[in-house]
Amino acid sequence: MHLKRLEIQGFKSFADRIQLDFNSGITAVVGPNGSGKSNISDAIRWVLGEQSAKTLRGGKMEDVIFAGTEHRKPLGFAEVSLTFDNSDGILPIDFSEVTVTRRVYRSGESEYMINKTQCRLKDIYELFLDTGIGKDGYSIIGQGRVDEILSSKSEERRGIFEEASGIMKYKVRKQEAERKLEMTRQNLLRINDIITELE
Ligand code: ATP
Repeated sequence: MHLKRLEIQGFKSFADRIQLDFNSGITAVVGPNGSGKSNISDAIRWVLGEQSAKTLRGGKMEDVIFAGTEHRKPLGFAEVSLTFDNSDGILPIDFSEVTVTRRVYRSGESEYMINKTQCRLKDIYELFLDTGIGKDGYSIIGQGRVDEILSSKSEERRGIFEEASGIMKYKVRKQEAERKLEMTRQNLLRINDIITELE
């Protein structure tokens, strides 16, 4: 699986629609200070579901929408699409090419899509579980992150290895199952109370 394409429109400094094609091998993004290099990695984090405006170097989520310049009006929405070659089937979905899209409007309304079909953020999160991709995946190493990984608590470091070894999805499913079990236990208690009252 490899990253094929990134399309950005109205996100931060990218008012017009741009398309970046990633060929096999290493791609380096170069440019003068303030030209938008980091905005590209912000766009990748954002489309993968980043919810923290601070991580995206902004104050509020609306800050990701092109804010206008002296010569250009602000835009009403931002959209980013990220396309992966899935011919090796690593992503658990029956498509050889997978595009995830996120769009946000100034009203705060937000949409996620997988191959142009609307979905939930949870679906995007689950699609990339155990692949190392994702807003917190080890495939995106932000500035200062290497130090953070080396100095993090052993439990946090273990999380990185768990994702790499592919057991994270089972842990997440186990937590969900435990949460549902607890809810069912509570419901049973309530039903028993009602039965006792009725008897
Ligand atoms: P450096 O090399 O200094 O780290 P960089 O190439 O990584 O810089 P970025 O930090 O990606 O640059 O881009 C910063 C630019 O993006 C600034 O000029 C800033 O005004 C612009 N920018 C950020 N958010 C928006 C927005 N919502 N609308 C318009 N422009 C924005």
